[in-house]
Amino acid sequence: MPRDDRPRHGPATAPDSHAEAKAEHPEHERPLGQAMRRGWRRRCPSCGAGPAFSGYLKVRPACPACGEDLHHQRADDGPAYLTILLVGHLMAPVLHVSFVAFEPDPLILATILCLAFGGLSLWLLPRIKGAFVALQWAKRMHGFGEGRPAGAGVDG
Ligand SMILES: [Zn+2]
Repeated sequence: MPRDDRPRHGPATAPDSHAEAKAEHPEHERPLGQAMRRGWRRRCPSCGAGPAFSGYLKVRPACPACGEDLHHQRADDGPAYLTILLVGHLMAPVLHVSFVAFEPDPLILATILCLAFGGLSLWLLPRIKGAFVALQWAKRMHGFGEGRPAGAGVDG
């Protein structure tokens, strides 16, 4: 898997890193993998420096580092759906195997699994949402990329 080896910049120097990103990739190109890795880290998919969220799940209207508009995102319940899909498919076999193998008190098993997989869900949800928003940004969905045709000025 290719890694983003560019140095990390704080918000003070982020516009430079954004400019570097623009120079590395032409305006019309938005690398999907890089954007989704940045989104997974809950960072702006465009520059990777600014935080994409202002709260646990609240997406900022724009990146505080590079100013990229993030309000076009329409993640809606997609991240929650994907989180349930993943965690459910992990929990079901763990429930089955642990109950058959260890024959625990059902109440103890339910308590442990609720805590473990509830925690996993809460950990995954904002990361999946960040990747979801990054996917929409990279694919120019829902207004991402509007008013910035390929080859147009980058600092508009
Ligand atoms: Zn940014």
